[in-house]
Amino acid sequence: MEGTLLARDWTVAASESLEAGEVLEPSLVQAILLDVASLGADVVAGWLKSSAYAAGIPVILSPGFTASGHLAEFLDEPAPMSEDPDGFRVKLRFWGVRGSIPTPGPETAFYGGNTSCVELQADGETVILDAGSGLRPLGDTLIKESGGIPLNLHLLVSHTHWDHIQGFPFFRPAYQPSNRLRVIGYLGVRHDLEEVLHNQMDSTYFPISMSDMMAQIDVLQVGEVFHCGPVKGHAFYTNHPGKCAGFRFDTSAGAVVYVPDNELNQSGQATHMPRETAKHLRARFAETVAGARVLIHDAQYTRAEYVDRVGWGHSCLEDVVELAGEAGVERLVFFHHDPTRTDEDVNRLIRLARKIVADNGWSLKVDAAREGYEICL
Ligand SMILES: [Zn+2]
Ligand SMILES: [Zn+2]
Repeated sequence: MEGTLLARDWTVAASESLEAGEVLEPSLVQAILLDVASLGADVVAGWLKSSAYAAGIPVILSPGFTASGHLAEFLDEPAPMSEDPDGFRVKLRFWGVRGSIPTPGPETAFYGGNTSCVELQADGETVILDAGSGLRPLGDTLIKESGGIPLNLHLLVSHTHWDHIQGFPFFRPAYQPSNRLRVIGYLGVRHDLEEVLHNQMDSTYFPISMSDMMAQIDVLQVGEVFHCGPVKGHAFYTNHPGKCAGFRFDTSAGAVVYVPDNELNQSGQATHMPRETAKHLRARFAETVAGARVLIHDAQYTRAEYVDRVGWGHSCLEDVVELAGEAGVERLVFFHHDPTRTDEDVNRLIRLARKIVADNGWSLKVDAAREGYEICL
């Protein structure tokens, strides 16, 4: 492993050197790989805990590793890839976390390059949030996990920008006659959702027509309140060009809020709308996300980048963290990463977000959305 990394111009600092007291500068560390037999795992965990900035550094554990001591404490933080305790009622899995366009490549391999798609398993229902390119691997996994039992799925489409619908033609469960799929859009966003999905599969763009999808598919336009089985959903407008919906779900394990594309514009800098309107918008979003256990929110830019992107319909990370912190959100997963962001950039953003939280004394947990990341409630 060390040879492989060195061959790619990585610097490898062995845990022994940490034991010997060497202090690494956190900003120079891109990832930590802990081997099952590593004597220094506990020391590494202690070092990670000693720096607020270090908490954003990804830790990759070798298979079968059982954490103990300081490392177990560290793993209680939101860094682990997956939590899968027995008896969870609500589970989130991230399949596409990128905004605007898929971004495959070595520089985005850690957080992933697929566009918006999040799976919410809640109280026996499977609710899919958006149909970006992450929908394709989700569909394959759902088929594999179903063991041949027909699937009953709810697919919510926030809006019809490409990065939120482009995975739909590749969603294999939609081609199997035994499955049932409810595609749900917010009536206020657009009235012709079914037509847009059909058009995307017109022969000009795609070789298979939507009418070749053999599952029982119902495309529904819902109002502000709707239900996915026992899970009550609330749809609301976000601030995004051409309109977009966000969704809040009341589950038996608490509220989960999904806000895919949204320009909070709360910082007051370079505002493109009257200040009073911006204030009103922010108050409305604070109310919508208040007390949520998990908030998944667009954070495509930083405040410094935002100056040149006012009106593009996306938020600054700093604004999102402040909104979540002040609204008493338990866990923020920032999402819809800009296509230009490398894995290293996203690591830096995690550190920035956690510094804001620490400076304000909030108990908010912050993570960056990452393909394969799971949260159980
Ligand atoms: Zn988008
Ligand atoms: Zn959009």
